[in-house]
Amino acid sequence: MTAFVKYQPYLPKDRVINLTLPDLLVCTICDGIAWLPVACKNCEKPFCLPCIETWKTQREDLITCPHDCSEFIQRTCPPSIIHILNTLQVTCRYKTNGCAETLSYNNLEKHEKGCGYRLMTCSGCDEKIVQKEFQEHESNCALVSLTCKECKSVYQRHQQDEHTEITCLRVQLHQLRDRMTQKEKDYNEKQHALESQVNDLNQILAQIR
Ligand SMILES: [Zn+2]
Ligand SMILES: [Zn+2]
Ligand SMILES: [Zn+2]
Ligand SMILES: [Zn+2]
Ligand SMILES: [Zn+2]
Repeated sequence: MTAFVKYQPYLPKDRVINLTLPDLLVCTICDGIAWLPVACKNCEKPFCLPCIETWKTQREDLITCPHDCSEFIQRTCPPSIIHILNTLQVTCRYKTNGCAETLSYNNLEKHEKGCGYRLMTCSGCDEKIVQKEFQEHESNCALVSLTCKECKSVYQRHQQDEHTEITCLRVQLHQLRDRMTQKEKDYNEKQHALESQVNDLNQILAQIR
């Protein structure tokens, strides 16, 4: 049996600013506040759904409760615990990026999914930028790739000036030439095939005469 590895709680206790009754609300698997809580039918202790799922996959035949009940039977989290959870005031997980919001437990997920301080990676310079400044950054970043609408050449924004109208026309001319060459090759192949068919027919005709 593999040992259960504790992992980072989704909601660490120190993000709650009005934590009362921690014994009732903490998931003993991750030591954080129970997140997406479910409970043990026997002892009614809440656990994070992801924590208990991992716990279950690491037990073999008999799934015991992390609180030593002989068998773990999952139930929904008791409404009394949900009620207390919903009174918690929690700081946003992106506080270190600058988000000053405090949210109630039940509004936390929605806020964090759309929080303007979550980090996004710029496709050009690979830097992490907070979401609310991301568009502004990407539309100015010198390393972002641009595609010329006319000739489909790809270059970084700082090379934009080098892609002058003449350069662009030259590229298009090359593309046109390549296409012509290809067409010519196709045409010659077809011509050749036709000629050999005519030859074959002539031979057959000669035999008939
Ligand atoms: Zn947990
Ligand atoms: Zn239990
Ligand atoms: Zn936030
Ligand atoms: Zn960038
Ligand atoms: Zn171009």
